[in-house]
Parts: sequence; C-alpha cells; structure tokens
Amino acid sequence: MNAITPMPRPSPVAATVDLDAEGVQHGFLRLPYSRDDSAWGSVMIPITVIARGNGPTALLTGGNHGDEYEGPIALFDLARSLRPDQVQGRVIIVPAMNYPAFCAGTRTSPIDCGNLNRSFPGRPDGTVTEKIADFFSRTLLPRADLVLDFHSGGRTLDFLPYAAAHELPDKGQEQRCFAAVAAFAAPYSMKMREIDAVGMYDTTAEDMGKVFVTTELSGGGTSSARTVAIAKRGVMNVLKHAGIVEGVPETGPTRWLDMPSGDCFTFAEDQGLVEPCVDLGDAVRAGDVIALIHPVGRTGQTPAEYRAVLDGVLAARHFPGLIKSGDCLAVVATVEDAI
Ligand SMILES: [Zn+2]
Repeated sequence: MNAITPMPRPSPVAATVDLDAEGVQHGFLRLPYSRDDSAWGSVMIPITVIARGNGPTALLTGGNHGDEYEGPIALFDLARSLRPDQVQGRVIIVPAMNYPAFCAGTRTSPIDCGNLNRSFPGRPDGTVTEKIADFFSRTLLPRADLVLDFHSGGRTLDFLPYAAAHELPDKGQEQRCFAAVAAFAAPYSMKMREIDAVGMYDTTAEDMGKVFVTTELSGGGTSSARTVAIAKRGVMNVLKHAGIVEGVPETGPTRWLDMPSGDCFTFAEDQGLVEPCVDLGDAVRAGDVIALIHPVGRTGQTPAEYRAVLDGVLAARHFPGLIKSGDCLAVVATVEDAI
C-alpha cells in the first residue's frame, strides 16, 4: 500500500509584488495577523524587487533581528536608489525581515517572542515568526543565487565591523561564500563559528547550496556614520562581485579573522558590573584579563577576572554595563594573514 504524501500547506503570506517581473516594484509581503485592534489585519513587510534581463538573483535582507540597524539603513537606501537599468538579473530587497521586531526595536517579535534567526525553516501553520521564516525558505531563497543577510550586535552585543561566512562541507560553495565576503570588503572578514546553528536562516540558505554572506557591523542597538558607510559600500560591492551591477568592487584593506573553536567565546558565570580591560580590536594574549565583573550587592568584594583562552583580537563584547550569568561577555578571534 502506498503512503499518501500530503501536499505541503501553502504559505499564508501574499506578496503584493510580482517576484518574477521586470522593472522596479515596491510593495509588501502581507501576512494575515488577526488581533484585537484589527480582526482581519496583516503584518506588512516592505519588499522591493528590481529586475532586468537574464542574470543571477541576489536576496538582500536586514532586520532579521529587530534591533540591528546598519542593514535596514543600507537596504532602505538601496531600494529607493537602485535603478533597473543598473541591474543585470534581479535584486530582491527586504530591509526588515522580522518587521514586527524591527518596529518594536527589539531582537525578537513582540507578537510571539519569535527569534526569526532561530525559527528556520519555519512553518506555514506556525506562529507569525515561523510563517515569515517559511516564506523565505520556500518562496524567496529558492529564487536566490546569492544571499546577503545583515546583522549587527543589537542592544546586548558590540562587534568589530566584519562580513562573514561559515566553513561548509562543500568546499566549492565555501570558497564562493568567502570570495563574496572578500568582495564586501569590510574592515574585518571572519570565518564565523556559531554557538548553535540550528534554526538559522544562514544554515537553511547554505543547505540549499546558496552563496551566503552575513555581517556583524558594531551594535549596541544603534549605528554610526562609519558602520553605515561600510554597509552601503559592502552591498554594492557584493552586487558588483555577482555581476548584477556593473563595475569592480571598491576593495580596501581587510583583516581576516577566525573563530577556530568554542574557546573563542567567553560566557559570564557571575552577575554584576562589567569593567572592560581591553577594547574591540585590541590584541590579547591567552591568559590576559579581558574583563572584570564586579559584584554589586555590597562593597569590599573582589571582582571576578575573565581571561582570554586564545591569542587574538577582541572581536565582540557584551554591550550593556550590567551582565548576568550565562551572557556572552566577549569573543576573541584569531588573526589570519589570508585564507
Ligand atoms: Zn542579528
């Protein structure tokens, strides 16, 4: 007896643009969201599609986490300024993927507490956040050749500005990813290790064989003129590298960093007041104290010392002045001359 495979449930998300049409279209991914103030309401996620002729498709995303700003700034800017006559192929721009989180200025969605970058591949019959992930997994990612997903540290982390890709089992795909990272030409380029890659957009795109580039461009829940300029230049560089926009990437010096093992992460085992002992980009040696955590319950207490386990540079740090046990305190990345 043959088992009957049920048809996959269709996505409830409706695009108000034709993803496969030529020209420039600004519209929405409309996701039904029934609630007290709008019985038949929707989440309206802005999307732009710019296409001309045959060529590769780039899928450009920001706001996967709602409190990270360089990507949305660069992508809202690109969506209003890139002309179809500059494009050979297609550019799909979603500046704020987790739009409810972006509007709230929070990492996760205020609707369902969903962390979009831990919700992939998503579900068409799941939460709002899982429905967004499902639409990307089954409708947008399959159309893409190259995916650039902007991140920064958000309100709780701060990073050296870098573009990054992951080590992959397919070394040809890995090489194409790192070539796109090099083209982005951020001040730093990272061979990135994840604490837990389950449920990430990155992993879903990579498993489909896509060229996937991500970034971390400072953080703290804000942006700066310097890091926004890095994002704007980087996205154009990647489009030039892909042959979608004419021209040669404007490269500059980049310093290649690696996260070779879990030893690069330092997690707090105390709560209290963080005293940084080195700043982002500073060289550290294994055994150096990188931060102190002062107990704040009473005076006269000795602070806990946190030491680097690797030689390298401080690549990320906890941003707020107070920290809890379990928070990521610091990341030390090793320095490579080249890959
Ligand atoms: Zn993020």
